[in-house]
Amino acid sequence: MALVVTKFGGTSVADTERIMSVARRLIAREEAGDQVVAVVSAMGDVTDELLVKAAEISPSPPEREMDMLLATGEQVTIALLAMAIHSLGHEVISFTGSQVGIMTDAGHTKAKITEIRADRVRRALDEGRIVIIAGFQGVTEDGQITTLGRGGSDTTAVAIAAGIGADVCELYSDVDGVYTADPRVVPRARKIDVISYEEMLEMAATGARVLQLRAVEFARNHGVVIHSRSSFNDVPGTVVKEADSTMEQAIISGVTHDTSEAKITIRDVPDVPGVAAVVFGQLAESHVNVDMIIQNVSERGTTDISFTAPIEDLVRARRATEAVAAELGAREWSVDESIAKVSLVGAGMKTHPGVAAQMFRALADAGVNLDMISTSSIRISCVISADEVERAVRALHESFGLDSDEVSAEVSPGCGEEA
Ligand code: ASP
Ligand code: MG
Repeated sequence: MALVVTKFGGTSVADTERIMSVARRLIAREEAGDQVVAVVSAMGDVTDELLVKAAEISPSPPEREMDMLLATGEQVTIALLAMAIHSLGHEVISFTGSQVGIMTDAGHTKAKITEIRADRVRRALDEGRIVIIAGFQGVTEDGQITTLGRGGSDTTAVAIAAGIGADVCELYSDVDGVYTADPRVVPRARKIDVISYEEMLEMAATGARVLQLRAVEFARNHGVVIHSRSSFNDVPGTVVKEADSTMEQAIISGVTHDTSEAKITIRDVPDVPGVAAVVFGQLAESHVNVDMIIQNVSERGTTDISFTAPIEDLVRARRATEAVAAELGAREWSVDESIAKVSLVGAGMKTHPGVAAQMFRALADAGVNLDMISTSSIRISCVISADEVERAVRALHESFGLDSDEVSAEVSPGCGEEA
C-alpha cells in the first residue's frame, strides 16, 4: 500500500467529463490498495477569467479581496470532484486550503507556506476516504485567505505530500513529463525518465515550464519524490528525486530556452567602487528580479553594465534605470526586448571538461551570435537574439547527442503550460 498525493491541473479538470475521468482514475488507484489524496486546480481558464473580471472593476483591487476571489476557482473543482467520486459509490471528502491547515504568511497573491497541519488529511484517509484538496490557497494565522501565486497548486501538492509523508507526489497535467527540449521546437526531443532535483531546478529556472520552480524547490527541501505525468494516458512520466548511483549519468540532461526576459544596458558609468551596488540596489528596491549581469570595461575610466530581467518587471526596471543613470551621470541607457536565453543543463558538466567549448562551437556553426554568457556548476546559459533561438536549441540538442531516433508522435502540447 502506498500513500499517494496526486495533483490535477486546470486542463485536466476543464469540464465535468474530465472531472469524471479524474474521479475514475482516483478510484482505480484506491481499489489497487493505495491511500489517495488529490490536489486540484481551478477548471480550465477560470483563474484567468476571474482576473479579467477583477480588472473590469478596478485597476488595483485590494490584494486581500483578490485572494478571496481567486480562491473560489479551486473551491468549485474540489466540490465537483468530490461529488463525482461520491456518485461512483466511494467515500470522499473535500477540503479548502484553510480547512486542511495550509498556513501561509500574509503575502496576499504570492503567499509563502509556513506550516502544514495535516492531521485532518490523515484522519480522513484513515477513515477510508479519498481526500480532495483545493490547490493554490492557504490561510494566515489570523484567518485571512491567501493564494500562492500562479501555478501554485503544484506547490500545494508537494507541501501536502511532505506534510503527510507521502511515498510520491504525482503531478498530472496535459504533458507527459519533462523533455530534453521543448518538443514544439525540437521534434526529436526525448522524455526524461529520471532527473535529479538540482538539474530539474536549473531546467525549471531557465524555461522548462512543466514543473513550477517553487514546487521543485519545496520537494528538494523536504525530500518529496515528484512524478510528472499525463492525465490523458497511463504512460510513466518523469521522476524527479535526489541524485543517486542508479541514475543514468548523461553529461547533458536538457536544453532549455526562455524568451521572457529583456536586456538593459547602461553606458559609460564611472568605473569606481560602489557603482554596481547603486545600480542593483535601486533595482532590488524596485522589486526587479535581475538575472544575468555583465560589466564591460570601456576606455576613459568608464564602464558599461548590462543585465537581464523579466519583461513583466520592465516598467519598474525602466523607471529604476532612468533614476540610476541620471544619478551616476551615465551617457545613455537602452532596452532590448528581442533577446532569448538558451541554456544547457547537466550534472555531468562538473566532471567533463569541454562542455562550454562544444556549446560555443555548436552555436557558432549554426551562425548564432552570443551576447552574454553565464554559468553555474551544472548550467551554461547564453543570451542571443530572439529570432535565432529555435535554431540555437536545435543545434545544441543535436550536438550533445540528445536527438531521439523517432520524432515524438504528439508534438503539440510540448513542454507546455497548463491552463
Ligand atoms: N489556478 C491557479 C492558476 O491558474 C493555480 C494553478 O493552476 O496551479 O494559476
Ligand atoms: Mg490554472
